[in-house]
Amino acid sequence: MKTLKEILVDADGRRVAVGHFNISDLGAFKGITSAAQELKVPVLIGVSEGEREFLGVRTAAAIVKSYQDQYDFPIYLNADHTHSLDKVKEAAEAGFDEILFDGSALPMKENIKQTKEAVEIVRSINPAIVVEGEIGYIGSSSEIVNERPESSLRLSTPEEAVSFVKETGIDVLAPAVGNMHGMLKTMLSGDVHKRLDIGLIGEIKKACGGILMTLHGGSGTADEDFTAAVKAGIDIVHVSTELRIAWRKGLEEALHAKPDEVAPYKLVATATDNIYKVVLNRLKLFNGLS
Ligand SMILES: [Zn+2]
Repeated sequence: MKTLKEILVDADGRRVAVGHFNISDLGAFKGITSAAQELKVPVLIGVSEGEREFLGVRTAAAIVKSYQDQYDFPIYLNADHTHSLDKVKEAAEAGFDEILFDGSALPMKENIKQTKEAVEIVRSINPAIVVEGEIGYIGSSSEIVNERPESSLRLSTPEEAVSFVKETGIDVLAPAVGNMHGMLKTMLSGDVHKRLDIGLIGEIKKACGGILMTLHGGSGTADEDFTAAVKAGIDIVHVSTELRIAWRKGLEEALHAKPDEVAPYKLVATATDNIYKVVLNRLKLFNGLS
């Protein structure tokens, strides 16, 4: 099986992106993997610090590894938004394929210093692990919020991206290009969307010598912006809040439709199916299949 780095370089060359979806239970894992298998496209599973704590760091790694082995399928695991160097080490030792060290809420100088340390720690444990760094704070929760975090309005500049990439030695850059974590209440109807600065994505990509790039906070983004962002140089797209909404709706529906049912796997099935549908559509879009 190809390494994640090889998958990303290949996606970059073909101007498609790898979908990244967060999980905190097996139902979501099943929905995501069913969609990826159906389309025969690689996929990244993300677990944030909170999701990792709930699932267990080693358990999350074992689930993905066992799926890789059983199906010989290109599925990879990312330690999403890791804020401490201890947790970087823990994820690297547990066998994650990618680690995102997120120092984006820190002043730039401190972000560079800590991200560089994270890169060194990961390389010393396993040089094949992909390390991502993030600049520009775009909020931190995959939830429904009333207002845009003020800081997400300040976009990254090509100059700061260049010095961040050069000084830290990261493999993948996550810039702020109009994206934000979570979704606004007004976006739930599907009429209002996040808009991205496509020109800026292209400028950063070029300025950084074609570096691999991730788009965080993809939920609620306009379809045409996703397509344009991938064409402009985005290689990984994160979607989490949309899955959480789909999960909750599915669970509520099942509880309502089956008031006497107590088997968890039967109740969770509707949520899993909802997640499958969201992921299927997003993966089609990111891979130019729709
Ligand atoms: Zn993120």
